[in-house]
Amino acid sequence: MSSETVSFENLDLHPSILRALEEAGYVTPTPIQAQAIPEVLAGHDLMASAQTGTGKTAAFTLPALNLLATPHPSKSRGPRILVLTPTRELAAQVNEAARKYGKFIRARTVSIVGGMPYPLQNKLLSQPLDILVATPGRLLDHMERGRIDMSRLQMLILDEADRMLDMGFMPDVERICNALPAERQTLLFSATLDGNIGNIARQILRTPKTIQVAAQKEKHANIEQRLHFVDDMNHKNKLLEHLLIGAEVNQAIVFTSTKRHADLLAEDLYAAGHKTAALHGDMTQGARNRTLTKLRHGDVKVLVATDVAARGIDVHGITHVINYDLPKFAEDYVHRIGRTGRAGNMGVAVSFASHADRYQVRKIEQFTGQRIEATVIEGFEPRRPAPRTDGPNDRPRSGKKPGNSAGYKGRTQGAQGYRGDDSRNQNRSANPGQGFGDRRPSGNGSGNRQDAGRGNSARRPRNFA
Ligand code: AMP
Repeated sequence: MSSETVSFENLDLHPSILRALEEAGYVTPTPIQAQAIPEVLAGHDLMASAQTGTGKTAAFTLPALNLLATPHPSKSRGPRILVLTPTRELAAQVNEAARKYGKFIRARTVSIVGGMPYPLQNKLLSQPLDILVATPGRLLDHMERGRIDMSRLQMLILDEADRMLDMGFMPDVERICNALPAERQTLLFSATLDGNIGNIARQILRTPKTIQVAAQKEKHANIEQRLHFVDDMNHKNKLLEHLLIGAEVNQAIVFTSTKRHADLLAEDLYAAGHKTAALHGDMTQGARNRTLTKLRHGDVKVLVATDVAARGIDVHGITHVINYDLPKFAEDYVHRIGRTGRAGNMGVAVSFASHADRYQVRKIEQFTGQRIEATVIEGFEPRRPAPRTDGPNDRPRSGKKPGNSAGYKGRTQGAQGYRGDDSRNQNRSANPGQGFGDRRPSGNGSGNRQDAGRGNSARRPRNFA
């Protein structure tokens, strides 16, 4: 069934849900919604591959809420629907969506995630509830303490199951599944259904229907992807600064490979005058929530984040994603760039790569099936020309190893290793500044200092790659 021929009205959803959708301004179901909702309403287990930003949250939340329209005969107060998510942020988002779409059904939803105080969660769990959204570790903790009655559970939903697998949550997920009523409906959503996810799905699901929404090549058609080859950290920082001051940037997420890098870079950007905050897993849940609220309200313009913390962020104002460091896993690239281009907007995803990173770039291109175009900005040219590539499947040319051409001594040598003839760049090499110096205030700065990272800029190493 194509989404063009489907409206929410002919999907057999309860009138109270249709009313909430109308209020949300949704007119047409997205393809994943058009395909998944009838299968779930028909009572099937489901495994669906869908990228974030495709409307997958409503694809499972709407039919789950439909279940609640019929009262349950049991006197138990436990949840009828359980949603497991890999991160706290995603749990918060699913919880918010369930509240929004379940407003007129009066669905009672509760979110139970790690990093939050137990007494509050104990209180929430002692009240009657319909939908429980949780991260696996904390949920299992409560289940093992006997705080949740799962006897009337009718539906289990695993959101971003591939991520739960990557993060090592599967043993917890399996234990949770074993403790739930066998007579339940199970839905599994994942960016990919390949490999281990397929095996796990076969264990957890019963004769599931499979939905694959977009072929990989069609992914993120509304996101322009660019690649900049960079010489060293100095070059990266200057390029980043140049991109961030661009008029077309509304809000941006800058991804780093480690929590520490996120803190340090956030601090540098803050000092350079950007409304910046860091977001990573070492922050308390309260601090993460405050940062996300500021991002949603536009008080934070540049979020410097790590993969896990940023997964699931759905803020429509994010026009740019910048991969300051390339992701370790190609799948994470897809999740990162999906933070922009939300709800049908256009987005731009920029990746920085050193020459040594170009095999990682190819891995990403092979995963997405899309070429990431190498781009050069006048005045920010890499000293070493971008390597010519023939697309996702090309191989290293003439058997050369990466970074073994004359003059280039690899990343650790940085600017000093290059002996090229570009005088502009030699001048840049001679200047040890990191690219944010121009607008760094002489004092400690003022305003919402806590938004920046937690490192001490006076003491920390400047070259933090
Ligand atoms: P998701 O893929 O679940 O993260 O959803 C991406 C965004 O699309 C969210 O901001 C949703 O509010 C929005 N959305 C989901 N379904 C629809 C729809 N049928 N029409 C318009 N917007 C939608």
